[in-house]
Amino acid sequence: PNTTRVKDDPKLWVKSPFPDVPTVLGVEMHEMIFQQITKYGDLPAMTCGVSDKTFTFNEIYRQSRGLGAALIRAGFKRGDVVGLVLPNIPEFPIAVLGCWSAGLTVSCINPAYTEGEIKRQLASSDAKVAITIEHFLNAVRSAKSENPRLSSIIIIGDAQEGCHTFSEMAKSDTNGIIFSTGENSDTSETISLLPYSSGSDVIKLCVNIGTTGPPKGVLLSHSNITTNLTQFSCENVGPTKTYHDTGVQERLIGLLPFFHSYGMAAIVLAGLYQGAHSMSLPSFDPATFLKAIREHKPTCMHLVTPLISHMVNSDDYSSKELEHCHTIVGAAAPIGNVLINQILEKAGRYIFFAEGYGMTELSPLSHLLTPSSRNSKIGSCGTGVPSTWSKVIDLETGETLPQNTRGELLVKGPQVMKGYFRNEEATRNTIDSDGWLHTGDIAYYDEDGYFYIVDRLKELIKVKGFQVAPSELEDLLRKHEKVEDVAVIGVPNLVSGEAPRAYIVPKPGTNPSEEEINEYLKPLVASFKRLYGGIEFRKTIPKAPSGKILRRELSDEYRKQNE
Ligand code: AMP
Repeated sequence: PNTTRVKDDPKLWVKSPFPDVPTVLGVEMHEMIFQQITKYGDLPAMTCGVSDKTFTFNEIYRQSRGLGAALIRAGFKRGDVVGLVLPNIPEFPIAVLGCWSAGLTVSCINPAYTEGEIKRQLASSDAKVAITIEHFLNAVRSAKSENPRLSSIIIIGDAQEGCHTFSEMAKSDTNGIIFSTGENSDTSETISLLPYSSGSDVIKLCVNIGTTGPPKGVLLSHSNITTNLTQFSCENVGPTKTYHDTGVQERLIGLLPFFHSYGMAAIVLAGLYQGAHSMSLPSFDPATFLKAIREHKPTCMHLVTPLISHMVNSDDYSSKELEHCHTIVGAAAPIGNVLINQILEKAGRYIFFAEGYGMTELSPLSHLLTPSSRNSKIGSCGTGVPSTWSKVIDLETGETLPQNTRGELLVKGPQVMKGYFRNEEATRNTIDSDGWLHTGDIAYYDEDGYFYIVDRLKELIKVKGFQVAPSELEDLLRKHEKVEDVAVIGVPNLVSGEAPRAYIVPKPGTNPSEEEINEYLKPLVASFKRLYGGIEFRKTIPKAPSGKILRRELSDEYRKQNE
């Protein structure tokens, strides 16, 4: 993005206030976790909040190794990609650690996706094998029939024709197997995770114009994620303690989707690494969520805005439900002081609220409110985690800005992704030649070095913390026979944080209805991407002379109408 000379003042770069942590090299993520979990033995690691099925740390270790051995025997090679189409179930960590043991790269797919969306990610990530459950089997079988690269399906649950059975593979003999290790390889090059994200992809002309393209594969190395785990779980930074330090297991609720970087990092990776006992919930159901909280008595709750809002607005939640909780962590989308204060009030005693900021492209965490701030900085996403640099730059000139001045947030550190899969241009547009990742978020930092995310420059819409790319919806809507032109923006929504809203110019002589458009989209996109922010039919879409949609104008117009 640095096509014009900018004034980059290193004195205005903001360093994490914590001592650096060394970049983890020579160890792959599963090895780092195995080193820990073999010490936790027969303690419970993950329980399904629906079936009560529990895996101990020993079982997770043994079954992961078994699965890894079976994958190696089946001929899968280092770097082959496995697509995971799974909800939050206790077998999820076994699938991930087993694949890593065999040297595979894991691409997690949103289980809320439609068949078409699942197929697209399996194809785009070059997946050779998929792990799924019966519920998604038709979609995965259909992907396999269309895509010769996808050679095998592994099914969790009852045996199915033409599929390998997960539980059988997990029992495999590990004798004589040489597992994947980072010892003799460059772990900053080997790819552990290949999640999909729209990213910031901010194109800079004379003024910033945010464009968020369709989801792209994010290349996260083993070193990216092992180091990030160290960055946010070290002393005085992470809100949770390891079993070895306290002799007590933290109890976590695993409702945040494990396929997403937040759930993966906080529950699957950090939860196991620290010896926590997690309760996995495959989907949000108010009664099951409440039951899980009452029975599992979480000590730390990882939440997103709609869940906090649900707890605040439901009479089912009082100080009783929060009595074992010492910390609530919120991230992945804007939360707002009002909601944070309301949930803290419900607790009726001191609970620490740790807001975090990150991106899939940041492995995922770069900023976190740490316990020593003791709720004095509510509304901030904290300071950079160890070994992380931040700066805020002017949107027009690219100049580095001082404290209390809004601009785009840039982050540099060992957690910055390697780049986008087969998309050098998008990589170049996101990570500049000095290694700074352009987040596409607008932020400022205060006199104490605490960061505040205030707006989004990129066009990404966040619905319940999930990504929705306006361009993806616009491309689909443009294919509708009655649509001449279209623009999609995100509008505030009480339940989901934001919701996609479309502005449509009908083709001459046609008169499409809102219902017709919604019915058209239904089979094409996951339900969270539907246009429940509404549809407005109009004569023109505001555009810059370059043809770029002026989404900001539509957002301002919407805001004024709803004031
Ligand atoms: P994802 O890659 O799905 O995790 O999405 C990353 C994006 O989520 C960021 O670029 C922000 O736009 C948004 N986000 C994450 N954390 C926060 C936060 N604490 N406050 C506001 N927005 C956030």
